[in-house]
Amino acid sequence: MYTVIKRMEVSAAHSLSLSYRSKCENLHGHNWIITVYCRSKELNADGMVVDFSHIKQVVKEKLDHRNLNEVLPFNPTAENIARWVCEQIPTCFKVEVQESESNMAVYEKD
Ligand SMILES: [Zn+2]
Repeated sequence: MYTVIKRMEVSAAHSLSLSYRSKCENLHGHNWIITVYCRSKELNADGMVVDFSHIKQVVKEKLDHRNLNEVLPFNPTAENIARWVCEQIPTCFKVEVQESESNMAVYEKD
């Protein structure tokens, strides 16, 4: 089994729709650290699990320097962002979305 891990920084804004009062309902920004884990039993014709630059393209082009509420069709919590990133990349099985030094969400496929 092969695993590749790609780490990226994404600067973006979001506001959260919540069932309780929170400052996170106001538009604000983060420099998210997004770590994508991909794995495959066999390599593709190019000798890769997935090209690192393909992962970067999928994540950065859609999210970097954007208002996530405008580009994602769901409440852009770190958890939902992690699941969305995982769904964009066929070999992906786990995504970590770090919002700050102390806050991180992880999505893993069952
Ligand atoms: Zn936030």
